[in-house]
Amino acid sequence: MRDITLCHPDLQARAAKLLAACEAAGIGIKIGETLRTAAEQDELYAQGRTKPGNIVTNAKGSSYSSMHQWGVAFDFYLAMDVDGDGKTSDDAYNDSTGLFAKVGQMGKSLGLEWGGDWKSIVDRPHFQLPDWGSTPSKLKSEYGTPEAFKKTWKKAAGWVKDSEGWWYRHADGSYSKNAWEQIGGEWYWFDGAGYMVEAAWKETEGKWYYLKENGAMAHGELCAVGDEIYCFAEDGRMLEGEVTLHTNERGALVV
Ligand SMILES: [Zn+2]
Repeated sequence: MRDITLCHPDLQARAAKLLAACEAAGIGIKIGETLRTAAEQDELYAQGRTKPGNIVTNAKGSSYSSMHQWGVAFDFYLAMDVDGDGKTSDDAYNDSTGLFAKVGQMGKSLGLEWGGDWKSIVDRPHFQLPDWGSTPSKLKSEYGTPEAFKKTWKKAAGWVKDSEGWWYRHADGSYSKNAWEQIGGEWYWFDGAGYMVEAAWKETEGKWYYLKENGAMAHGELCAVGDEIYCFAEDGRMLEGEVTLHTNERGALVV
């Protein structure tokens, strides 16, 4: 699976930092494998043993022997034109310019363990959290199964941005869909897929509200929408008919 949000929250945070650091350094990387099921791990273990290919892992799925099964590891690949032929697709694992070691160093400085430092099966595209040692033996003895370990994860509530837009994750991992939610003192509207709606009108119970460019609902203010100016009451309702405006201490118009 390639979804980093299935992984331990600390790993998610460090992966996000690594992506940002690589981008700033002009190195294009993408997250590959993240959480692996026992069946997926067994499939990989068979490679080079009972199935064709090279041996790529010493970890059996049925015994939870891969850190990927515990949600504390991810792999990356290059998403850039390393050999200068105008294509990126043939360079995912092109290490001819030493990029994997560079990314490895950056990940290590963010507190990740890098598979490129390993002795038995050097795994340059691999990172993991170092908190429980290099292998799952401590996780196994402490928690038994990945499912039991997962129950101990504390997810912080917070804004998340993905390729579709912004959404807000609650501490329990849930998120609002088709609903208003007040976050940090501002009201937001989340669409059917759970994404924050921005620069758009929203009708609720016969009243019109406006979601500004940053997603926050306009309230107690005058707001330019296209070429027109609208007035919004303190509770966010669009005002109609006669509107009373005042000036503040600087002489600016206020509702
Ligand atoms: Zn890996």
